[in-house]
Amino acid sequence: MGKPTGFMEYKRKVPSSKDPSERIDSWEEFVEPLNEEALQQQGARCMDCGIPFCHVGGDIDGEEVGCPIHNLIPEWNDLVFRRQWREAYERLSKTNNFPEFTGRVCPAPCEGSCVLGISEPPVTIKSIECAIIDRAFSEGWVAPAPPKIRTGKKVAIVGSGPAGLACADQLNHAGHEVTVFERDDRIGGLLMYGIPNMKLDKELVKRRVDLMAAEGVKFLAGTEVGRDVSGEELLANFDAAVLCGGATKPRDLSIEGRGLKGIHFAMEYLRGSTKSYLDSRFEDGNFISAAGKDVIVIGGGDTGTDCVASATRQKCRSLIQFEILPQPPDARTPENPWPFWPRILRTDYGQEEVGAVFGKDPREFAIMTTRFEGNEAGQVKALHTVHVKWVAVDGRLQPEAIPGTERIYNADLVLLSMGFLGPEDLLLDQIGVERDRRSNARAEFGDYATSIPRVFAAGDMRRGQSLIVWAIREGRGAAREVDRFLMGTTALP
Ligand SMILES: Cc1cc2nc3c(=O)[nH]c(=O)nc-3n(C[C@H](O)[C@H](O)[C@H](O)COP(=O)(O)OP(=O)(O)OC[C@H]3O[C@@H](n4cnc5c(N)ncnc54)[C@H](O)[C@@H]3O)c2cc1C
Ligand code: SF4
Repeated sequence: MGKPTGFMEYKRKVPSSKDPSERIDSWEEFVEPLNEEALQQQGARCMDCGIPFCHVGGDIDGEEVGCPIHNLIPEWNDLVFRRQWREAYERLSKTNNFPEFTGRVCPAPCEGSCVLGISEPPVTIKSIECAIIDRAFSEGWVAPAPPKIRTGKKVAIVGSGPAGLACADQLNHAGHEVTVFERDDRIGGLLMYGIPNMKLDKELVKRRVDLMAAEGVKFLAGTEVGRDVSGEELLANFDAAVLCGGATKPRDLSIEGRGLKGIHFAMEYLRGSTKSYLDSRFEDGNFISAAGKDVIVIGGGDTGTDCVASATRQKCRSLIQFEILPQPPDARTPENPWPFWPRILRTDYGQEEVGAVFGKDPREFAIMTTRFEGNEAGQVKALHTVHVKWVAVDGRLQPEAIPGTERIYNADLVLLSMGFLGPEDLLLDQIGVERDRRSNARAEFGDYATSIPRVFAAGDMRRGQSLIVWAIREGRGAAREVDRFLMGTTALP
């Protein structure tokens, strides 16, 4: 512990962001990193707790707390306080293959469980993580390190999101010959085509993929397993396969008018936007535009927020975001104590930007859409809604319409962002993998073996739509089990 009195001397400080009304003219990242002195002080706030809840990543009363990949947080906080940046980078690399992604877009469950958070704002863990890896890249410490010995074993990984990439990285360093199959034209999964560029610069994804390629991982983009390569071929040509295809089947809103023009799933909108940006800086026009439109985003999660921020950048005429759940409280309630993830009202970058442009938070809480109305051309023109209260039916909370709260909202673009129902069917069906009751690939956490011999599953495809840090944890865990299966023993964590 660098400075025993640090947590009493220094206040929590997080990186500032460019002014929302300016940054909406750009698709570039907008967070301005802390300087070295500020980072040192933030590292000094860490108390080096006897039980560092920040890094436990364990289950308490059925709820996960702390960092799922067990980042050695107190250790690198101390090293940053001492300005031993290279050592901090080495410590960070022991647990996290891709800190440049989590350091930018992880919601930071570690901070939700930080012991300092009981009485003060928690340690600025995520920003310190980001600063360590950004410094490591700029100093040239992150260089290709191919394995010295190859085992001669071949592993196929299907899907190049954070789970597939983490799994590939671990197995490659263990000496196996790894091929990553990706159906999309660019590698990265939702890191590339889900999260927009202003939250995670795609050059950073490419930089990591290039590094892994230089270390020997083979990437086959534009190759869908189940269509371009059959499941049978895959199993004939590789010693083991890991299915990391994500959980991208979107939840639909099957109400009157759903077939009208102008109603899209969030991922159609976000993927098209990022692809067009990367291909031609939007010159090709191959994207759904919100320009000049009244936009309604249905769904209040991360994906909905990314739609809000994208539509604001495209200069929509108005923007409203619906959330069916009630507005969360401003502070923890007694039912939601430390060290659990604080279920409180957060204003994310997208809502901040709408506030700056339109003078008002776009969110409407506890609201349900009952039907879409169209014009004679079959284009959506309005949403009929009603406010709801949540009532217990057979022990489960359900939304119930409140009579007299019906309202009509004009809209000519509607983006559906109500979560995901599980993995797509083609890959799992063709390989014949058993599913669990939520339709995910059935494989035990920690074991990752599916019902088909030599086939493993990890990430969202196994656990359902989750977080990048969980995908990394599962990718690493599946790599360990594949290595054990191939070699009879493993040194992977
Ligand atoms: C819009 C959006 C924003 C998000 N923002 C955040 C955030 O800010 N922070 C956070 O922590 N999490 C966020 N998430 C969640 C996070 O991105 C996912 O939990 C994570 O990417 C899951 O990783 P994965 O590797 O399991 O799957 P994915 O990232 O979904 O990758 C799966 C890949 O497999 C490919 N694939 C599927 N089937 C095949 C096949 N048959 N053959 C070849 N390739 C195939 C897909 O094309 C895809 O590239 C967000 C999710 C979305 C949708
Ligand atoms: S819980 Fe917070 S204060 Fe304690 S070791 Fe972790 S980061 Fe430091």
